Amino acid sequence: MTDITRDVVIVGAGVSGLTAANELVKAGKTVAVLEARDRVGGRLWTREIDGAMLEIGGQWVSPDQDALIGTLEDLGLETYSRYREGDSVYIDADGALTTFTGEIFPVSAETQREMERLIGVLDELVAEIGIAAPWDHPRAKELDTITWKAWLEAQTEDQEARDNIGLFIAEAMLTKPSHAISALQAIQMAASAGSFTHLVDSDFILDKRVVGGLQSVPIALAEKLGGDVFLNQPVRRIEHDDDSVTVVADGMTVSAKRVIVAVPPNLYSRIDFQPALPRRQHQMHQHLSLGLVIKVHAVYDRPFWREAGLSGTAFSPYETVHEAYDNTNHGDSKGTLVGFVSDETADGLFELSEEERKHRILTSLSHYYGEQALTPEVYYESDWGTEEWTRGAYAASFDLGGLSRYGADLRTPVGVIHWSCSDLAAEGFQHVDGAIRVGRETAAVIADELNA
Ligand code: FAD
Repeated sequence: MTDITRDVVIVGAGVSGLTAANELVKAGKTVAVLEARDRVGGRLWTREIDGAMLEIGGQWVSPDQDALIGTLEDLGLETYSRYREGDSVYIDADGALTTFTGEIFPVSAETQREMERLIGVLDELVAEIGIAAPWDHPRAKELDTITWKAWLEAQTEDQEARDNIGLFIAEAMLTKPSHAISALQAIQMAASAGSFTHLVDSDFILDKRVVGGLQSVPIALAEKLGGDVFLNQPVRRIEHDDDSVTVVADGMTVSAKRVIVAVPPNLYSRIDFQPALPRRQHQMHQHLSLGLVIKVHAVYDRPFWREAGLSGTAFSPYETVHEAYDNTNHGDSKGTLVGFVSDETADGLFELSEEERKHRILTSLSHYYGEQALTPEVYYESDWGTEEWTRGAYAASFDLGGLSRYGADLRTPVGVIHWSCSDLAAEGFQHVDGAIRVGRETAAVIADELNA
């Protein structure tokens, strides 16, 4: 067992923990980052599978994500645009396929009007409630105790409009069923991206990718820290008092003045805090859980859909794969599609054999792109639910009533223990941008405390 001493110890080498560590080093503090896995990056993981470079976790960058864009610039990483030339595809409840351009799905004029009206209502609510403290808004409790599903039902009788607007938040963002999240949580998700309109606009929200993969960010951040990042060190115990902390991992112990727990909040209870955390944290942490999504990658000898004038962008709340995109790598002659299977649909698929699941998913892709989609050269399903140090995807959100009840305390330190993660962010909530923002803010608070 190695014993070391630092100013600050960071639990978790995801992008949030690594950002905080780098900021603290810039502020003249010594750090140690303890990571459970044998790699850095957490939910960012760029891997080669059967010769194909795949983004197993997070990958897209949108133009409002200043913190991430600034980090990419600082690290000298380049971006490229997602392929988006040509028509998008929509499949309705009857299985009918229509192509379209722009953001609004090709539905009847009446449904289109309803969708546009709902987007307008949501944009207004987002502007009014804001992202800094949605729990402080006078309507917070009212909106947090009604499900996203029930809220949509109260707004319109148009089922297809509800299904489509619901999809943008439930299946596509929070990756939980619309009956399991509150309207306030949906509004917070939209506010974290600037507006509901931004979420609907895939050209905005899924704008760019990083050459070499988004895991290049945590890898580069870890390299800057040199020997202060320790892999294969799951933290089991945190002993803390008024001004010091001892963090015990499998192969080492770090004594420090502060600790940053930079892991998703669903994993806090895996750590034995001594003394135990206060009642409010114990309760709050039980109301936060990760959603579930299967991210599917299918690589073909060429991007065949482009020959048919398709952009690769496809949506349907009625399909197994509810959204899919051209995910061809920069400068690659092979064509890659990426699709997503969310929450309860994913549960159903995990009941099947691997072969049957693959068949169902590829059949769904073939509904969008034709028969050629059935025979990829490389096929891979990212399954974060089986990852011990994540346990779901994309990120954590509150159950009904949780955001208004606990939101204000999400990041409140407990003595020398601080929290940092994309799932605790305001702007960039559940995204890499948010992970960086929270990492920077947490580091700044600690540097000030230690300098006082
Ligand atoms: P994590 O990345 O979860 O890092 C936490 C780290 O802590 C992990 O390395 C973990 O191993 C470690 N850890 C956990 N417990 C312990 C312990 N006890 N001891 C030591 N170490 C521990 N975001 C985007 O911006 N764009 C996207 O396109 C996008 N797509 C996504 C697609 C998928 C499939 C997934 C899963 C996520 C996606 N995201 C996306 C979200 C984004 O990846 C995350 O918001 C972000 O990476 C979280 O960073 P983090 O540092 O807060 O947490």
